[in-house]
Amino acid sequence: MARDIERSAPCGLNGSISWNDAVCVHCGACTSVCPAECLTMDKESWTLVFDKGKCLACQVCVKACPVGAMKVTV
Ligand code: SF4
Ligand code: SF4
Repeated sequence: MARDIERSAPCGLNGSISWNDAVCVHCGACTSVCPAECLTMDKESWTLVFDKGKCLACQVCVKACPVGAMKVTV
């Protein structure tokens, strides 16, 4: 079954955050560095889960991702 290539969610500061499942290597770096603890990797589906309301749009996850899978637009 095909997986979604991109998921996006409203960001706390009127922006959007997207995760590219096609290039993500599931290293967990984004979930570790997020200061708001709003990213979690579901270890069964290997899906990145966002807690939309907490995101600060700080772009720390974008900088931490080794493959450019995260994008935050504000
Ligand atoms: S932009 Fe900042 S607060 Fe939002 S998910 Fe990324 S690291 Fe977390
Ligand atoms: S840092 Fe990038 S490659 Fe690693 S889990 Fe997060 S989105 Fe995937």
